[in-house]
Amino acid sequence: MHIRFWGVRGSIATPGKETVRYGGDTACIEIRCGKEILILDAGSGIRKLGNEILKEKPQHINILFSHFHWDHIQGFPFFAPVFNKEYSITLVGERKKNFTLEQLFTAQLMLPYFPISLAELDAKISFREVSKDDSIVINNVTIKIARLNHPGGCIGYRIEYDGKSFVYATDTEHSSSIDKSLFELSLNADVLVYDSNYTEDEYSGKIGSSKSGWGHSTWNQGIKIAKAAKVKKFILFHHDPTHDDKFMDNLEKQAQKEFKKSYAAYEGMEIIL
Ligand SMILES: [Zn+2]
Ligand SMILES: [Zn+2]
Repeated sequence: MHIRFWGVRGSIATPGKETVRYGGDTACIEIRCGKEILILDAGSGIRKLGNEILKEKPQHINILFSHFHWDHIQGFPFFAPVFNKEYSITLVGERKKNFTLEQLFTAQLMLPYFPISLAELDAKISFREVSKDDSIVINNVTIKIARLNHPGGCIGYRIEYDGKSFVYATDTEHSSSIDKSLFELSLNADVLVYDSNYTEDEYSGKIGSSKSGWGHSTWNQGIKIAKAAKVKKFILFHHDPTHDDKFMDNLEKQAQKEFKKSYAAYEGMEIIL
């Protein structure tokens, strides 16, 4: 399993000299399992990934969505393979209330928000609706899904291939006890990518206003899960737009004191399992 981070920022893209090392693009992770291409979320980071994929022979692509807040979908219409008829792309995610997955993307690409409609995209787009506790198989890859705690709902993914496992749990708020479904999803995982948007002081309101109920968590809470679930490597993800490079360096150092194999995700970061 070959993993590459293309966007690690939460909420909104944050370009600029203060974020040049960790990167300013929003959520997008590429995972290669043999020939299979899986992409987690289509934040603004997916644009550059699309340009790389176009250099290869056309193939099938799966994009797995955690949920549909802007920072996780806004790169989708800028993902170059959607404008190439030799590609087929399956969008995987949860339907929301009365909306099917297809209706959600039809709405994203609707006037006056975007000039090109979903039907006008050249790639063959298909939809695969999933829900919490589902387990799906795509060739030799098993994907397990669990409910996270986020306004409007969000799901986490565990990707298993060739005896290795990678867990993606962004956009989730902790409670006073360890989230049972996230614990089970993370059990013995090689890697846990976790919503580390806030510091404990930001979350509690010691700095600024309290962020309780906003749907995000802290690295401290993530490490509790990592330790309990015997995760091998912990990745801080969904960096707050106000957390610049210096700030992130410091967070990574603090996290490593609690859990040695902690790393703050940055654009271009690669993990090979
Ligand atoms: Zn987000
Ligand atoms: Zn969100």
